[in-house]
Amino acid sequence: MYKYHYIDRIRSTKKSSPLLFGIAIDEALNELVVSRDYKKSIDIYEEMMLEWKYDYNVDFLRRDEDPIAVPEEVLEFINAEYEQNELHHQVCWHSLWYKGHEFINAYIEQILPRMGKVIEVQKMINLKNENGDSIIGYQDVIAELDGVITIIDNKTSSSSYAKSKIVGSQQLHLYSFAEKIDSIAYIVMRKDYSAKGIMRPIQVLKHEANPEVTNGVLNLFDETLGKIQSQEFPKTEIKRTCRNHFGKPCMYFEICEMGKSVQQIENLEKLETKKEIK
Ligand code: SF4
Repeated sequence: MYKYHYIDRIRSTKKSSPLLFGIAIDEALNELVVSRDYKKSIDIYEEMMLEWKYDYNVDFLRRDEDPIAVPEEVLEFINAEYEQNELHHQVCWHSLWYKGHEFINAYIEQILPRMGKVIEVQKMINLKNENGDSIIGYQDVIAELDGVITIIDNKTSSSSYAKSKIVGSQQLHLYSFAEKIDSIAYIVMRKDYSAKGIMRPIQVLKHEANPEVTNGVLNLFDETLGKIQSQEFPKTEIKRTCRNHFGKPCMYFEICEMGKSVQQIENLEKLETKKEIK
């Protein structure tokens, strides 16, 4: 993916709904945990969501379309007002819009009472190795969770997180190493409703960072940076990633696994390199 993205400069022409929705929720929750001001948090969320309400270049996940989340009268209005592609976009967007409001309310009820002092939000980490290469990342929240200072990552997801996700989390082990904080947690807000058609409780997965996993992650980064420098780009051995990358097949799947060219694939484009730009 690195090669296709940074060297071949092949990009999607579409925007991704999980990314847009995730950013809106992240920004709203960052405000919420710091100021505890519901109104400010909702204002941020709504402003960010409204930016793409009529942007019909957004690619939605299949499960984003969930009319059960949308009030009946709104659904009737959308059905009467829009056609075809626009209708699909509007139903998906409204499904997420209402779920986002539910997430923020649920976070206030279920998470804030467990959260004490907030140390940082959106803190940048910059880890340098001996060769001067850097890994840069942003931590959602560092705060007291159930009385323990914890590195917290807020997630929205279409399904529950297995315990193994946090036990082997490269991202959280890296942040834990950078901050010298052992306690790590995922707070997962599920977009899929229960069989009763209601939002599921927010999932809190807590764990103590394991030095073995941390060492493995650091070694993997060094190895990967070395390969980038020597222009080695082996395919991933985890084939599931090829078929399920944030809920969709890897966007390069047809090039990488089926040998197609960029021109043969809808929604992909090759950016000009700097030398080609006149
Ligand atoms: S299809 Fe698989 S191996 Fe190929 S770029 Fe995507 S994730 Fe990597």
